[in-house]
Amino acid sequence: MKNIVVFGGAGISAESGLKTFRAADGLWEEHRLEDVATPGAWQRDQDMVLRFYNERRRTVVTAQPNAAHLALAALDQHANVQIITQNIDDLHERAGSKNVLHLHGEIMLARSSIDETLLYDTHGKDIQSGDFCEKRSQLRPHVVWFGEAVPLFEPAAALVERADIFLVVGTSLAVYPAASLLQFVRPDAEKYIVTLDLAETPRRDFVWLKEKASTGVPALVAEWINPPFD
Ligand code: NAD
Repeated sequence: MKNIVVFGGAGISAESGLKTFRAADGLWEEHRLEDVATPGAWQRDQDMVLRFYNERRRTVVTAQPNAAHLALAALDQHANVQIITQNIDDLHERAGSKNVLHLHGEIMLARSSIDETLLYDTHGKDIQSGDFCEKRSQLRPHVVWFGEAVPLFEPAAALVERADIFLVVGTSLAVYPAASLLQFVRPDAEKYIVTLDLAETPRRDFVWLKEKASTGVPALVAEWINPPFD
């Protein structure tokens, strides 16, 4: 079976009702990123950061996987599929995908603010000020903020190197180091991008399908599952 690696971002969940953050105004849900998604924001105003992510978690809980998530989950029956997502939502898992690596963390998990190995399932509930880990430190969302290290980058790069087919979906490729995963794709791999627009022109060895994830991804998956007769 072929190794298919999918590298995704906020655009794949846009049609499930979750806003991307590089949309028209450069704000994420009416907030400047540095006010809500940085270690500095956490130091300045924990309550505001908790409130922001609690709201994001509530929207994720009510969102449903769309045709793109579902098509990728169905592909598991036909290939070794590895999803590497920058998204913190759980829509790939709820669509049924087996192998999902969350490069930037998971909104459904809470983590200790002094020991990053201590993770707790929120079960979709809010994290409150005063919710502590077993070491008596405040819980924070299990997300990688701007300016923080990306601990799963190296395992993700090793997965990208194994791809026979590499598909990029719904990411502007503006966030680093995540975007540099593209450097690890083998030259002989088939390479596709499904996204509406990009921070820069894509490399010439990528086929760019400039369309919505909910149509572009199922169309590609159908091609891979039902190859035409020679
Ligand atoms: P981004 O906001 O920078 O870019 C979104 C990309 O998706 C753009 O290229 C846009 O053209 C494309 N897009 C928008 N709607 C689309 C659609 N229907 N079909 C296909 N493409 C579409 O997002 P990013 O590149 O993922 O990077 C930013 C960061 O945003 C990530 O670190 C992620 O953690 C965070 N984020 C996550 C979520 C989520 O978990 N759902 C939501 C917002 C932001």
